[in-house]
Amino acid sequence: MIKAVRGTRDLLPPDTALWSFVDETARAVFRAYNFQEIRTPIFEDTQLFSRGVGEETDIVSKEMFTWEDRGRAQSEKGQLITLRPENTAGVVRAYIEHNLQTRGLNKLYYIGPQFRRERPQKGRYRQFYQIGAEMIGPPTSGSESPARDAEILELLATFLDRLGISGWTLQLNSIGCAQDRANYNEALRNALDPVKSRMDPDCQRRAVTNPLRVFDCKVPEDQPIIEQLPRISEFLDEPCRKHFEQVQEILKSVGVPFTLNDRLVRGLDYYSRTAFEFTHGALGAQNAILGGGRYDGLSEQLGGPKAPGIGFAIGEDRLVLALNRSAEEMQSKPDVYIAPLGAGMDRESARLARELRHQDLMVELGDETFRLKKSLETASKLGARFALIVGENEIKADSFALKNLATGEQVSVPHSELVERIRPNS
Ligand code: AMP
Repeated sequence: MIKAVRGTRDLLPPDTALWSFVDETARAVFRAYNFQEIRTPIFEDTQLFSRGVGEETDIVSKEMFTWEDRGRAQSEKGQLITLRPENTAGVVRAYIEHNLQTRGLNKLYYIGPQFRRERPQKGRYRQFYQIGAEMIGPPTSGSESPARDAEILELLATFLDRLGISGWTLQLNSIGCAQDRANYNEALRNALDPVKSRMDPDCQRRAVTNPLRVFDCKVPEDQPIIEQLPRISEFLDEPCRKHFEQVQEILKSVGVPFTLNDRLVRGLDYYSRTAFEFTHGALGAQNAILGGGRYDGLSEQLGGPKAPGIGFAIGEDRLVLALNRSAEEMQSKPDVYIAPLGAGMDRESARLARELRHQDLMVELGDETFRLKKSLETASKLGARFALIVGENEIKADSFALKNLATGEQVSVPHSELVERIRPNS
């Protein structure tokens, strides 16, 4: 038997009802904040991620699905292509490629699959889904303002509330401007120098090439060393500190609670200033539902114009796990099951179904080979509210037997009144 590849999975009904609920709620929230959808390709030039996300990150150094595409001519070397491990780099590439800076502040969102070669476990997959958004534009568009950071965070709190997810914690940090981070990296390097030989080889390498990434080391024996390292909060210059304070002030004013965590550095190199994660207790080891932050230098790093931005990515798989709702309950049930009674009734029933479906009713169409008993049983099993019986006599009278499947009550309803009688809450 051929099975789905390790780390990938099929999303089946009724669970897909939860996914649709999350997607629809996200779209409604994005609409309220005036975000518009963007769809970028699922694979991109590998360089986009090595330059954008960073060579030393776990994502780029270990987790990308990359292959060499065949060149056009036999002798031509192929292009290295990667399945996107995240979507911010793709959005910023599109921003540069299509000159979106002429539109001022771009407020874009995406929903789609991402791919990372990670060790699969609960809440961690090799194909997973993210719902994300980016606010990006030239500095004149206000894209650098702390008001944008606060707006993004408030949007996220609203989204989680709308989904009925409580018990989340917003962990907030500022990882400083480019110069702050350069100073901080230097301080980390100095602090790590005398102790790094005691660390895991992977962490040792990071201590030299990109000390900030030492915080992504998960080896338990290294944690006491990491705990002693200097803190980024001591390295913020005045404008950066002020920016961060303003973000916090707005959050307090709109009533979004947060916890400061100056160890939160996020596993991607493009972040600057505000960085955040929302965690949730019910998720176990993989407790981060979403992460994000500012990436003021990313556009320039990718060869584009100066375009400060801020964004986030929500792990939809984890969000669905944190939803405290039953999938069965979320699934829509047919308004009516049409039960054709005897030969020739499929034709008539198809016409009626079309008519009712055009009125936005949810209709399940039965089969004329079924006896009435079997039709009614099928209708009940599907959770339909009504069964509509279509037999020779009904067609002649243009009036149909409508059975309420909850009460068992059955009445004859003229054709012209069917929609009104079947429509929920009518
Ligand atoms: P990141 O792009 O690493 O900041 O991830 C943003 C969010 O995506 C995380 O907080 C997770 O919820 C989710 N995520 C990242 N990697 C995976 C994965 N392998 N499987 C499922 N969700 C993931």
